[in-house]
Amino acid sequence: MTKGKNMKKRIYLSSPHMSGGEMKYINEAFKQNWIAPLGPNVNAFEKTLAGYCGVEHAAALSSGSAAIHLALVMLGVCQGDEVIASSFTFSATVNPIKYLGATPVLIDSEPETWNMDPCLLELALKERRAKGVEHRVKAIIVVHLYGMPAKMDEIIEIADRYEIPVIEDAAEALGSRYENKHVGSIGIMAVLSFNGNKIITTSGGGALISNDKELIEKARFLSTQARDKAPYYQHSQVGYNYRMSNVLAGIGRGQMEAINMRVQQRRDNYEFYFQNLKGIPGISFLEEPSDKFYSNRWLTTILIDPSEAGISCWDLQDECKKENIETRPLWKPMHMQPVFSSCPSYVNGVSSELFNQGLCLPSGSNMTDEDRGRILEVISIKLKR
Ligand SMILES: *Cc1c(COP(=O)(O)O)cnc(C)c1O
Repeated sequence: MTKGKNMKKRIYLSSPHMSGGEMKYINEAFKQNWIAPLGPNVNAFEKTLAGYCGVEHAAALSSGSAAIHLALVMLGVCQGDEVIASSFTFSATVNPIKYLGATPVLIDSEPETWNMDPCLLELALKERRAKGVEHRVKAIIVVHLYGMPAKMDEIIEIADRYEIPVIEDAAEALGSRYENKHVGSIGIMAVLSFNGNKIITTSGGGALISNDKELIEKARFLSTQARDKAPYYQHSQVGYNYRMSNVLAGIGRGQMEAINMRVQQRRDNYEFYFQNLKGIPGISFLEEPSDKFYSNRWLTTILIDPSEAGISCWDLQDECKKENIETRPLWKPMHMQPVFSSCPSYVNGVSSELFNQGLCLPSGSNMTDEDRGRILEVISIKLKR
């Protein structure tokens, strides 16, 4: 494709942002010939991650999806079991439930954080109990979507009462905090992702973090083909090839040197959009409900009520596209997805409404003032009619 002469520079939704520290660690890996899914970068990256998130242990893995899969394996999820999950999320939260032959039970959002509605969670558990299938529910996966922490006090209280472990899907929320604790340090285990568009990236990668040493050691064991301690290759369990490469962990170490700055830059993007667009009729933001919630603002999202704003989120997306500005609809809830629509679900209409009115705005930590100016110009012209 030829680049039009008048084509403006593309502004991406969320592109990789190197700190400059990455190559040093990659070069070390090459010098030491640690070109393998283990080595000093992997160990150091795990230590840095655990320290930053305020947990004892971390296992660096090949993706966030792999981390969710292993978390479910370790909680004993089998064919015929159920796993309760946030419906308003990216499909990677729910796919691993299916890998294990289990059934996702999908829970809609509450309007304050857009995350799992504790009332619907309680309803689901009550109903599973009444149906006599409570024993099949092996885990709850709570997502901190777009970086906004879920209502963890309420969710943990309910989960504890039913004695069901909570996995946090913090793939979008590295650096977010709930009651001053990092998200990912609250449930029994948590999942991080370092895919290309997340707040930090290793090009592709993920991690499982926990305060439970046994779980993380088990994750390392399972992710390297579950090899028994024997002088030959012996296996008593099904294993996976899910460990992170030592080269990519080098990128991760360099990325972590800038994590605090990246959170600040993403929060600054949110503040920029909020201050400049908040008065416009029909536009609303996902605000932190109280000072218990601290979002990394991975992506800034807006809701557009077309009857007041005079334009739909879909038309605004097209207008941005014409200016070579990438935006994205909000995630389509899992209970509305063809592949998951037959799963049990507890729905209140919140996430489907969000899907119909929401837009993710460009939110990269590497956006310039000029980029932000261009985005604001397009949006404010279209919204003010
Ligand atoms: C990105 C993401 C994942 C999966 O991470 P990968 O590293 O891409 O496998 C899981 N859950 C959510 C909410 C995500 O946004």
